[in-house]
Amino acid sequence: MELSRRVRGLKPSSTVAVMNKAKALQAQGVPVLNFSAGEPDFNSPERAKDAAAAALKANQTKYIPAAGDQPTRELLAKIMTERNGIPNCGPDQVVVTSGVKMALYLAYQALFDPPEPGALPQEMLLPVPAWVSFAPMAELAGARIIELPTTAATGFKVTPAQLKAAISPRSRVFMLNSPSNPCSTMYTPDELHALAAVIDEAARTIAPDLCIVSDELYQHIVFGSVPFMSIGSVPSVAERTITINGPGKSFAMTGWRLGWISGSGPFGKQVADAFIKLQGQTTTCVPAFELAGLRVALTECGGELETMRRAFAQRAEVIFDLLRAVPGLQVARPIGAFYVFPDIGAHLGKTSPAGKRLTTPADFAAALLEEKQMAVVPGEDFGGVGRQSIRMSFACGEDQIREGCRRLAEFCAALR
Ligand code: PMP
Repeated sequence: MELSRRVRGLKPSSTVAVMNKAKALQAQGVPVLNFSAGEPDFNSPERAKDAAAAALKANQTKYIPAAGDQPTRELLAKIMTERNGIPNCGPDQVVVTSGVKMALYLAYQALFDPPEPGALPQEMLLPVPAWVSFAPMAELAGARIIELPTTAATGFKVTPAQLKAAISPRSRVFMLNSPSNPCSTMYTPDELHALAAVIDEAARTIAPDLCIVSDELYQHIVFGSVPFMSIGSVPSVAERTITINGPGKSFAMTGWRLGWISGSGPFGKQVADAFIKLQGQTTTCVPAFELAGLRVALTECGGELETMRRAFAQRAEVIFDLLRAVPGLQVARPIGAFYVFPDIGAHLGKTSPAGKRLTTPADFAAALLEEKQMAVVPGEDFGGVGRQSIRMSFACGEDQIREGCRRLAEFCAALR
């Protein structure tokens, strides 16, 4: 018996696959240096854990409203208003979700219609390389992906002209992720204003249903000269933008599976109400006791957040300097998040010391794991120049970064 075509066509997440493989090898005692982790190597803040544990003890163990409890919605609305500058964002425009992933999944469910028979699908404009799950989740909702290619040389950023040229009457979502996984680069406020102007103009002319989905999960992990900005704060596009965030990366709370969406004005309420229906029929709600911990993280754990941010900033410098010196790698300076995405195109087509022919990043990553006990994520599934790149996370100690870069340099130098 076959399962659904949707599921048969769905690729497993390459980042999760490599991470699991590296962890399994480590558990067998193989000294693998793991550069595949998409999560901080820090623990969740003590005070957040204490608050969640106390709420659990106090029996906050029952269902709560699908949107999240009122104190959390109020706090998130305040944060999105004051810190992110989203206009007309109250508790009615905010919904707590089961992680950023579920927020994205449901946003696509709320926005995309499956194509009518014989009609062309609605489109998602996706700057690539992009995090591996955006495209599969949008495709599950019926979208067709339009890749907007970018390269390391231009900081992996699309230009307004490039965006404008890609917009069609079928355009439904422009997907933005700044700081970016896997590129770790960011758009400047001026660049975001220019992209917003293109969206605004297109929405008034050829693409009236065009929305922006902005994944801002790495908002607090920034360390370059570019200040973070929410594109949803630009008045002309605020009422067509869904802003998504969560505590996973900033507060080292990935396993809590919490996130949230926010919007502006009547559109924001319409989206939040859609989420309430969707969650009401699927996940029901997030665990109440976790929300007590989330509120404490967001209001009292700025110190922990800053300590982690500084550590990532320091590691970004170390890994960038070391990788820049490896012949044949092209790498953009990371200024946010905790990844580097070196282009290894110059080494593809070569053969490894153990005799493996390296045609693709997957071959390269497999040989690196086997011959140097070093796990990196092959770039193919990130799209665009990902097809000649690898992703390395620097959510690990500096010693590991130095040793890993040494192994990688040795590996590259021995390729023939
Ligand atoms: N968006 C991006 C850009 C990510 O990198 C990740 C995690 N790797 C997610 C979403 C998923 O976040 P969460 O764990 O909160 O679902």
